[in-house]
Amino acid sequence: MCLTFWLSQLYRGLPRSIGRTTQPVWDSLSRNLVLSSQRRIPEFSSFVARTNTCGELRSSHLGQEVTLCGWIQYRRQNIFLVLRDFHGLVQVVIPQDESAASVKKILCEAPVESVVQVSGTVISRPPGQENPKMPTGQIEIKVKTAELLNSCKKLPFEIKDFVKKTEALRLQYRYLDLRSFQMQYNLRLRSQMVMKMREYLCNLHGFVDVETPTLFKRTPGGAKEFLVPSREPGKFYSLPQSPQQFKQLLMIGGLDRYFQVARCYRDEGSRPDRQPEFTQIDIEMSFVNQTGIQNLIEGLLQYSWPNDKEPVVVPFPSMSFAEALATYGTDKPDIRFGMKIIDISDVFRNTEIGFLRDALSEPQGTVKAIRIPEGAEVLPIFLKANRNWNSSVAKFIMEEQRLELIRLMEIQEEDVVLLTAGEHKKACSSLGKLRLECADLLEIRGVVLRDPALFSFLWVVDFPLFFPKEENPAELESAHHPFTAPHPSDIHLLYTEPEKVRSQHYDLVLNGSEIGGGSIRIHDAELQRYILATLLKEDVKLLSHLLQALDYGAPPHGGIALGLDRLMCLVTRAASIRDVIAFPKSFRGHDLMSNAPDSVPPEELKPYHIQVSWPTDSEAEKSSLNHPHHPES
Ligand code: ASP
Repeated sequence: MCLTFWLSQLYRGLPRSIGRTTQPVWDSLSRNLVLSSQRRIPEFSSFVARTNTCGELRSSHLGQEVTLCGWIQYRRQNIFLVLRDFHGLVQVVIPQDESAASVKKILCEAPVESVVQVSGTVISRPPGQENPKMPTGQIEIKVKTAELLNSCKKLPFEIKDFVKKTEALRLQYRYLDLRSFQMQYNLRLRSQMVMKMREYLCNLHGFVDVETPTLFKRTPGGAKEFLVPSREPGKFYSLPQSPQQFKQLLMIGGLDRYFQVARCYRDEGSRPDRQPEFTQIDIEMSFVNQTGIQNLIEGLLQYSWPNDKEPVVVPFPSMSFAEALATYGTDKPDIRFGMKIIDISDVFRNTEIGFLRDALSEPQGTVKAIRIPEGAEVLPIFLKANRNWNSSVAKFIMEEQRLELIRLMEIQEEDVVLLTAGEHKKACSSLGKLRLECADLLEIRGVVLRDPALFSFLWVVDFPLFFPKEENPAELESAHHPFTAPHPSDIHLLYTEPEKVRSQHYDLVLNGSEIGGGSIRIHDAELQRYILATLLKEDVKLLSHLLQALDYGAPPHGGIALGLDRLMCLVTRAASIRDVIAFPKSFRGHDLMSNAPDSVPPEELKPYHIQVSWPTDSEAEKSSLNHPHHPES
């Protein structure tokens, strides 16, 4: 039987969000597992004390002697007890006769969420007492023996998906939160998808799974890294932001097709879709071009995609970075809906309107707009529009400009037009943000813009090799990372106008989130040295091992990394990546369960030749201001 089929059966009918999850989801989980058990699913009860899982029992098991282990979900009038495991729920009849008094005592006294083992016979429920909503609803267990394996204290929250709890509380008691149906679903689906990815890469395409070190050294450029003290005075390891250097070195070592489910670390502060440690499906190949990598990834996602989701359609569309920025104001466009940015500079070439005139007189100055269809009806922030255009600017717009705008933007009555003027990139990116905000607002008010079932992949290509540094635009930084190869037709510009060089970097975007990125690499040591030292002004000594290796017959190579957490977050439609990670960090990078990071007594720091310099009160205050009252989540 094919595993994806099993998954699709397992999870069909899953509710969409934790908030809306109700008890019967356990039932659908269990029903679907039985379907799959007829198709030879994994053996869930091998090597352990139980004979069956709670969720798998049906009328076909009538008369069988079974042993079940599970948690007490609830008890009804000391007559019935509902037992739960990851597989589903089953009803156990508590014996009432004198001879079974000890069994009754155990089952009636054990608090909810205690773990018990029961043995007994599968019997049918009396006529009229079947529960069609429960997959095991035709049967119940007539108990002969029961053992309390472990009792449960009063819980900080009920183990029911529909019971609301703060994320901080969920993270503090993560092991209890993991008992929820939604977390079980998310982690099991993640495991299944990774298994299919391994199968596709290793078994179908000859990739080699290689583990690379997590104690490494500083990499120039890129993200901030975590430091790990060593016993050598003043020397530190760094936790790698990705296995980038190692995977390139593996190509030089002739490994040819590498992949790894790799843990990466970036000390960059949390955002809703970031974690200080996260997982990448990291890939590198020799003798490959951009199309080769893109085809591989499209095949990989198609192969590993859960069967119960909207299928992945390949090939994925592709858009240049320049077009993405000009049309959607971002390098990760959500192309599931329109409201594209339109350049309306020409309409206003001779305008009287001061801020538009000023903007257009600047280099790269533009006027841009987006049209929100029927926005006036839905968006409360705008007053009802009328024929005279409801805007303080409107009276300065001449009639012919008005007509031209209507034509260019296909404006209808009740539409809202948002207009901005300024430097191209800035104007686009502010409209890009507004576009998304408006989409959210429209959807909150019931307008369906983005089909929630749809998965819309997009390649963004032809990035510039460098961006001007934000803090000092005269200096350059890599748009991806310093190992990315320039576009072959732009190489000559490296020596004259490096800011104009396009790169062989590609990003993969899903529904407006970046879920992957990669590039064809530089395999020429001289070119790599020139880019690092001359253009990026980096200390090449830090990378001397890589530069040396490139000189010893490095094959042309390229690769990509997919962000597994973000991908799973989108696949499961979780509210945050923390919902697809078993033990995530809080918003401020803390483990709320164990309280990491934790302090270390000075004597334990001695072997590392480290002393803590405690912040002054005002420094401490400043740092807490940098983390404004964000609840620990
Ligand atoms: N190492 C890169 C990253 O983490 C991905 C790649 O270029 O393959 O973004």
